[in-house]
Amino acid sequence: MTQTPPQDPARPFAAVVGGGPAGLIAAQHLVQAGARVVVFDRMPSLARKFLLAGRGGLNLTHSEPIETFLAHYGEQAGPLAGAIGAFTPQDLRAWSAELGEETFVGTSGRVFPASFKASPLLRAWLRRLDALGVTVRLRCALRDVTPGALVIETAQGESERVACDVVVLALGGASWPRLGADGGWTQTLGDKGIAITPLAPANSGALIAWSQPMLRFAGAPLKNVTLRAGARSARGECVIARGGLEGGAVYAVSRSLREEIAAQGRARLRIDLRPDVSEAALALRIESARAGESLANLLRKACGLSPAAAALAREAGPLPREPEALARRVKDATLDVGAMAGLARAISSAGGIAWEEIGPDFQLAKLSGVFVAGEMIDWEAPTGGYLMQACLATGAAAGRGAARFLKL
Ligand SMILES: Cc1cc2nc3c(=O)[nH]c(=O)nc-3n(C[C@H](O)[C@H](O)[C@H](O)COP(=O)(O)OP(=O)(O)OC[C@H]3O[C@@H](n4cnc5c(N)ncnc54)[C@H](O)[C@@H]3O)c2cc1C
Repeated sequence: MTQTPPQDPARPFAAVVGGGPAGLIAAQHLVQAGARVVVFDRMPSLARKFLLAGRGGLNLTHSEPIETFLAHYGEQAGPLAGAIGAFTPQDLRAWSAELGEETFVGTSGRVFPASFKASPLLRAWLRRLDALGVTVRLRCALRDVTPGALVIETAQGESERVACDVVVLALGGASWPRLGADGGWTQTLGDKGIAITPLAPANSGALIAWSQPMLRFAGAPLKNVTLRAGARSARGECVIARGGLEGGAVYAVSRSLREEIAAQGRARLRIDLRPDVSEAALALRIESARAGESLANLLRKACGLSPAAAALAREAGPLPREPEALARRVKDATLDVGAMAGLARAISSAGGIAWEEIGPDFQLAKLSGVFVAGEMIDWEAPTGGYLMQACLATGAAAGRGAARFLKL
């Protein structure tokens, strides 16, 4: 990207701080509307979390109907509906295709770029922004923002005041802080009296104090299980980690676990280790197994459990011998979750700028001409493409809003 601002001082100047997906799409809208745009980011390169997301295939959005799509944002579906309605999952797919990355719908309904990677899409996007005249300033950390000005700390440790006509902040949440978004902005905006719901891990692992024998299975997957916590349930896979459970199925119920821990200090995670077989059928299989068979053999042969799944059934308490009770244990092994894994490894963060602080067009009510977008706003969603969709949709909305503010 060019390192010098485009030479047209007559055009209004928009500063976008945070070069993740939300900030970059805001920058695109602003430059296309006719603003001079500079993207500032504290890291040595842009969109590091977007690139990391590409390692898992880059799940861009989901193909389900918009009503069920929006329901994944829970109580924040209302405030997000306008932005997602104006930049729909179809719009996101068209945007990606326009950058040369066609998308496809996977068997689960999730949408991915054809290359299954983030890097080709990001490269094409940055080339496009460069061609449109967007300037990027890296290793520039936001230290303060006021209507009409930013204070940036440069790589040399110098403080620089940047006068601008409009600002879009897209500073992310606080998961994987080493990728750039470290939640430091909560202090900057909090000091200005802006209400912020504390950032907390979302789509994160569950911490469980395993017994010594269970630790032997660290790294082993639990395939095709159903997890239940509170009102949420998810079928899929998770992985036994030394400190608990990680993986998609746990992430899907992690919000319920987090809320139960906040309310009661601990949470119950219920695991069905054989979701395809009814409890009655399992009990019959156990019943008809050879008399005198060990419990280990009953779990392995009659119940069809892997060694790791069998160990997990034992972890939920002493194994009963009676067929109905053993079948119930396999269908409902309940574990105590003491805490959620921290923000450092969570996929995303819950919390952020409270909605009551955000006016129409994603402008901050207390800071005229300062717009916000992406994960730094108080919403959360499960994995499945809902995160990227909301980041891009709010980024587009903030970019359009900022352009309107500039009367472009
Ligand atoms: C392992 C992993 C896999 C994921 N996979 C998916 C997926 O497949 N699908 C999906 O939908 N979502 C996925 N996500 C989530 C998704 O990547 C994020 O929700 C999304 O990147 C958030 O976008 P954002 O633009 O709001 O913030 P970010 O992408 O976090 O960008 C914020 C930017 O702001 C910069 N910044 C922060 N503070 C400052 C400051 N003070 N000054 C200057 N710059 C600053 C940061 O350096 C960063 O570049 C994944 C996340 C992780 C961690």
